[in-house]
Amino acid sequence: MTENTKTGNNTWRPATTLVHGGTMRSPFGETSEALYLTQGFVYSDAEAAEARFNGEDPGYVYSRYANPTVSMFEDRLKALEGAEAARGTASGMAAVTLALMAAVKAGDHVIAAKALFGSCRYICETLLPRFGVESTLVDGTDIAQWKAAVRPNTRALFLESPTNPTLEIIDIAAVAEIAKEAGARLIVDNVFATPMYQSPLQLGADVVVYSATKHIDGQGRCLGGVVLSDEEWITEEVMPFVKHTGPHMSPFSAWVLLKGLETLPIRVARQSESAAQIADFLAGKPKVKQLIYPGRDDHPQADVARRQMRGGSTMLALEIEGGKEAAFRFTNALEIVRISNNLGDAKSLITHPATTTHQSIGEEARAELGINDGILRLSVGLEDPQDLLEDVEKALNAV
Ligand SMILES: *Cc1c(COP(=O)(O)O)cnc(C)c1O
Repeated sequence: MTENTKTGNNTWRPATTLVHGGTMRSPFGETSEALYLTQGFVYSDAEAAEARFNGEDPGYVYSRYANPTVSMFEDRLKALEGAEAARGTASGMAAVTLALMAAVKAGDHVIAAKALFGSCRYICETLLPRFGVESTLVDGTDIAQWKAAVRPNTRALFLESPTNPTLEIIDIAAVAEIAKEAGARLIVDNVFATPMYQSPLQLGADVVVYSATKHIDGQGRCLGGVVLSDEEWITEEVMPFVKHTGPHMSPFSAWVLLKGLETLPIRVARQSESAAQIADFLAGKPKVKQLIYPGRDDHPQADVARRQMRGGSTMLALEIEGGKEAAFRFTNALEIVRISNNLGDAKSLITHPATTTHQSIGEEARAELGINDGILRLSVGLEDPQDLLEDVEKALNAV
């Protein structure tokens, strides 16, 4: 390595950090970050190998432990988030599992908001209890429920905000206070807000996790995830877990995601602007029973959103009058917006949660989360906003 644009320059604004942060250049002086597609590393002599293994020399050993391309990705995101340390993972779910498993042991207790991404809910409700970790699910927007759920053995609180798919906003600072009092770690899944619009660590959270699959890639190519927190916890709990169980990020994915970070601010800004326009267009239309957008004053938690978010969202939720049949007719009439369960992509994507992402949780759980058969989730992409508006208008006319 000849040049190392580490995270040291903390006077850079986010867009600059996302282009230059974490860059390590090889002796060739390449402009774009190098892709170190290697499993392992060689040592000049036996003494060098010994020093590498006993920690005297901090260099690389094996790509399950660490890899230079993955380090660049971690350092860039760490600088943006204002975190001391970060670990890249193979997917968002690997990041969530890692964060929770590193925070608890048998006999501990976890509190999580009910409105969770399906697989996150599986981990809290089904997987953790199998290993002797009990969990309580609460209505995340009701701070009293978090407080009431705390037990002497509560070690982790987990939430996402805005939530999937109904875009509820949870007061992160208020939940962080409860976590602090309980001596528990607050883990925030920040996928929907993106690092551009919400900084949970600054709001008092202890850990931030991302599915980098979503806005960070933003172009539908590869899966990835990351856990960000303080140096001590990452070194002592997260790092050994990754090292010995292997949910690490591949160098190839890290390289794709590094390029994604460079364009993240302009993509999120443009997608959110278009989402706001579509939300304003749909609000109050007779066929639209409900329109949920975190950037609008009529959002149920608009005051919390203003307090903790720096922008609206690339996502909106709408309820079409007429239940499943009407929602399907609207969805099928769209030409530019594609039907998919993914989000944060350059391509606008629409999902009917009740029959796809939230099918398996059952009707009762769906009702509790406000996911009725007319609800659709729209992830707004990078297309011309006028084309998107025309597409949505045509589909609404077809209902
Ligand atoms: C997609 C998503 C995940 C899981 O990420 P993968 O990269 O698909 O494993 C976790 N949480 C939220 C909020 C998500 O949207």
